[in-house]
Amino acid sequence: MEGSRFVIEASEAEFMARKSGLSLVQLLPTLVGPAQTLARPPISNYHVGAAGLGSDGRIFLGVNLEFSGVPLHHSVHAEQFLVTNLAAAGVPCLLAFAVSSAPCGHCRQFLQELRNASYLQICITDQQDTKPNSNFIPLSSILPNPFGPFDLLDNETPLLLEPHHNGLSLLSVSNTKIPNGITNLCNGNCRLLEKNEFELEIAALEAANNSHAPYSGCPSGVALRDSEGRIYKGSYMESAAYNPSLGPVQAAVVAFVAGGGGGYEGIVGECWWREKGRQ
Ligand SMILES: [Zn+2]
Repeated sequence: MEGSRFVIEASEAEFMARKSGLSLVQLLPTLVGPAQTLARPPISNYHVGAAGLGSDGRIFLGVNLEFSGVPLHHSVHAEQFLVTNLAAAGVPCLLAFAVSSAPCGHCRQFLQELRNASYLQICITDQQDTKPNSNFIPLSSILPNPFGPFDLLDNETPLLLEPHHNGLSLLSVSNTKIPNGITNLCNGNCRLLEKNEFELEIAALEAANNSHAPYSGCPSGVALRDSEGRIYKGSYMESAAYNPSLGPVQAAVVAFVAGGGGGYEGIVGECWWREKGRQ
């Protein structure tokens, strides 16, 4: 399946590293160029690629996505794609990544949402010729004096990539108060373009339950279906700085691209699941 191009299994990654005489971390910069070819930037034509090592030994790729005809803030940056790719795979920690150009301020802030942000190792490959000794540097070196989740949350709150379950259920469709004191004020909205959309609704609910929304208390998820019946889930992911948050539609489109989806016209169904804010 084409989607495997965005995830390299641990055994394959080890084989590639051994064959090249590199460590897994050293292998990452060599994967940035191939990742760039997978980017979809029809507006800027600026291809960004990223390759990151997950704590389970798998390597994940990220690329930038731009969408013609809609406001630019709907774009997905390669680093966000990378983190979304790990989140979808349930990997709790990004150890290091290489990226083709320096992360923009928006991405530096988005990455601050990770538990290990301050010592997350980053290699900026287009700077390697002029700064051969720079290699991997910690995020803290390019985002000094950060504002982050530690300013707004307690230490017990799960951060981005850590397991989440937001307690949403089908019962909450009609604002039902479900047992155990959990009050869900959410609604599931489906734009039904095909019959038998229950499966899509369940997928959107699962995505909403995995959503990282500790600041607004408004977890949400989106599920897309393609013309071949495959379903792609996306979970809303918040940033402590609010604006760098990544919406569930973008996350679902990441899943579509990473899962081997072709043109966006192949998306034929969608379902949203969201919760009202804390009151
Ligand atoms: Zn960026």
